[in-house]
Amino acid sequence: MLSFWEKKNFLNHDLIVVGGGIVGLSTAIQYKDIFPDHQVLVLEKGVFPSGASSRNAGFACFGSLTEILDDLEVLTKSEVLALVQKRYEGLLAIRQRFGDVHLDYKGDGGFELITEQELPALKRVEEINELLFPVFKQSVFSVLPDHQQLGFGSKVKAVIRNGFEGELDSGKFINSLWKACNEKGIKILTGAKVSELLAEEGLVQVNDQGEKINFKANQVLVCTNAFTPSLLPDMDIRPGRGLVMVTEPLPYQISWKGAFHYDKGYVYFRNIDNRLLLGGGRNMDFEGEETTDFGINPKVKNHLMEIMEKVIFPNAAPKVEMEWSGIMAFGMDKRPLVKKINPNLSIAVRLGGMGVAIGWQTGSELVNLINKS
Ligand SMILES: Cc1cc2nc3c(=O)[nH]c(=O)nc-3n(C[C@H](O)[C@H](O)[C@H](O)COP(=O)(O)OP(=O)(O)OC[C@H]3O[C@@H](n4cnc5c(N)ncnc54)[C@H](O)[C@@H]3O)c2cc1C
Repeated sequence: MLSFWEKKNFLNHDLIVVGGGIVGLSTAIQYKDIFPDHQVLVLEKGVFPSGASSRNAGFACFGSLTEILDDLEVLTKSEVLALVQKRYEGLLAIRQRFGDVHLDYKGDGGFELITEQELPALKRVEEINELLFPVFKQSVFSVLPDHQQLGFGSKVKAVIRNGFEGELDSGKFINSLWKACNEKGIKILTGAKVSELLAEEGLVQVNDQGEKINFKANQVLVCTNAFTPSLLPDMDIRPGRGLVMVTEPLPYQISWKGAFHYDKGYVYFRNIDNRLLLGGGRNMDFEGEETTDFGINPKVKNHLMEIMEKVIFPNAAPKVEMEWSGIMAFGMDKRPLVKKINPNLSIAVRLGGMGVAIGWQTGSELVNLINKS
């Protein structure tokens, strides 16, 4: 039973954001930029963001060469350009807002390992550079002349460098978002799982140990990514689990740094504090990984271990020290779903595998959507 004080002070807000990941926090901050006097509440089910935002690999990327070529199979050239532009501008926006030091952003570039079957992509480097020229005003991709020096396995036939990609510390990104929320007086309640949206009345129901607490707001924004169908069914949203592993520190200095892509972006790795961070591999079992349950799929893990042992460290692979999973959201359309459901309720979900790059912009789109109407 709620107290008089709780009912009087804690339940009514101008805006409630459901979901405290990158998108939810970015939305709350950018809303407060426009409406500094409004009361904003973020309801997050976990103690920490409990989807993808603090469980990802921290790649500040916008698409490797083969990913862009794949996109061109299903999208027009101008759609692909717009997608890359949005991701790149999203990265610039967070770097500008929070600062490279606070994000621990490193601009060491992106690298794609090319195997025999991807060799034809090398012939299209110039074509893709031309396509992306309007955004970057210079060539994005180049073939490394001396990739053998990196020490990768013999399967790697070439390495393509992308000078505009980088990496950040995903925890520091969330810390920066939390700090901005704090400075702006945005209230974040964690351990607050929304069980029901009573949209017409602007009510958001949280079940707290059997007691139903009804929070009320003029606007409710749902930023729950892969978990959205449990609140709003019948949306084009499919979950996709991702695995990340981090090894023990290596006893010698790793000779490479940067954000590395392999197998058309399905596998990615980087050097963090002289450890290997390796993740991805969802394509080994798409069906098994279409879940919102956290967990480790042995098929995916074995695939990543094999890549670590045969491709990344063909001489002596280090031991894995930790592993975790996170949940992404996909749909038929690669773009996020930013939409008004009714006058009081809007959503920004389905961030795919590049929410670090597009999360902030997606929050901005959502704020613009409700501000316009
Ligand atoms: C393993 C992995 C690696 C990745 N690597 C990268 C990368 O290197 N670079 C990159 O750009 N992107 C990467 N991504 C994708 C990126 O992390 C996501 O696109 C981004 O975090 C999505 O942010 P979000 O806020 O939409 O979703 P989420 O982070 O999932 O946030 C949604 C939040 O809603 C909360 N929630 C859900 N249901 C409820 C409810 N009923 N009530 C209250 N709260 C609720 C969840 O707990 C969660 O915190 C990766 C993702 C994964 C899983």
